[in-house]
Amino acid sequence: MSLLSIGTLAFDAIETPFGKTDKIVGGACTYISLAASYFVARSRVVSVVGGDFPKDRLNDLQSRGVDLDGLQIKEDEKSFFWSGKYHTDMNSRDTLVTELNVLESFDPIIPDSYKDDTSYLMLGNLAPVVQLQVLERLSVRPKLVVLDTMNFWMDIAMDDLKKVLKKVDVLTINDEEARQLSGEYSLVKAAEVIRQMGPKYLIIKKGEHGALLFHGEDMFFAPALPLAEVVDPTGAGDTFAGGFIGYLAKTDDVSFENMKRAIIYGSALASFTVERFGTEKLESLTPDEIEARVAEFIKLATFNMDFAAV
Ligand code: AMP
Repeated sequence: MSLLSIGTLAFDAIETPFGKTDKIVGGACTYISLAASYFVARSRVVSVVGGDFPKDRLNDLQSRGVDLDGLQIKEDEKSFFWSGKYHTDMNSRDTLVTELNVLESFDPIIPDSYKDDTSYLMLGNLAPVVQLQVLERLSVRPKLVVLDTMNFWMDIAMDDLKKVLKKVDVLTINDEEARQLSGEYSLVKAAEVIRQMGPKYLIIKKGEHGALLFHGEDMFFAPALPLAEVVDPTGAGDTFAGGFIGYLAKTDDVSFENMKRAIIYGSALASFTVERFGTEKLESLTPDEIEARVAEFIKLATFNMDFAAV
C-alpha cells in the first residue's frame, strides 16, 4: 500500500551522558522513512533540505526504496538544524537550538502521482500549517492519517495544531506533550480530552516506560524493552511512528488488534535506534534481527494465569 511521509530531513547536534556529536544527519522524516523501509518496498517523502544536506545520504535513502520526488532541494539555503541535551535519566531533554532555516518558507509540493494514490499518510513533526497543507493538497483522503508533533509547535502554533488534529485518525505524542495539550495530569483524562479534539486513536509514548494506545473504551499497553545500552534517544519517537505506519501499510489492516502489533514493531525498531547515536543502528538491521526483537517483546509481556491454582 502506498505510504507518504512528511517531516524534517535535518542536521542534529546531540549531547547525552554518553557523548556528544557534531552536526549529524537526523530529522523526523529520516527516521520515519528508514524505519518504514523495513516494511514497504517504496515509500514516498515530501520535505525540503538546503544545499548543505549531504547528497550521499539522499542516495542512501533512495537505495532503500525511498522515493524522493517530493523532496525540494534549496541549493542556496541551509537545512533545518536542531540541537538537544539529554538529562541523566535520558527520558527528558532540553532543546538547545532550533534553526528552522529552509523550513521557514516551506511550501510543500505534492507530486501529481501521489495526490490520488496515498493510502497511508504519516504527518511527521513539522509546522502544523504545513501538515495541514499536505492533507489539503491530496485529492483523495488517505485510508489512515497519523500525526506526530511536539511541544515546540504547541508553544508557537497551537491554533494551527488544533486545526490539523480535527483531520487525523491517529496522534502520537509523548506523555509530557499529552499533558501540555490537554491540561490534564492523568493520562487517561488527557486521552479523553485529546480524542475530543479529533483523533479517534491516541498513542502516548512514555520513553523507557513503553507506550499506551487509546481507542473508544479500549486501551493497550506496550512495554519498552529494558536495554543494557541506551546511548541516544533522539529519533526514537519518529522511528516508532515509521515502524507503526510501515507495518500498517504493509498489512493494510487498520483494526485496533493490528494497531497493537504495529505498536510492537514500532517499539522494536525504536529500541534499536537508541542503542547508537543518530541513525547508525537503524540503518543496518536485518529482518531476522527485527523479528528476534519482536519475539523479545512478546516474551517480556506474556504470562499465563491459572486461576484454579490460586
Ligand atoms: P524524536 O527524538 O523522535 O522526538 O525526534 C527527534 C528529531 O526531531 C530530530 O532528528 C530533530 O531533527 C527533529 N526535530 C526536533 N525539533 C523539531 C521541530 N521543531 N520540528 C521538526 N522536527 C524537529
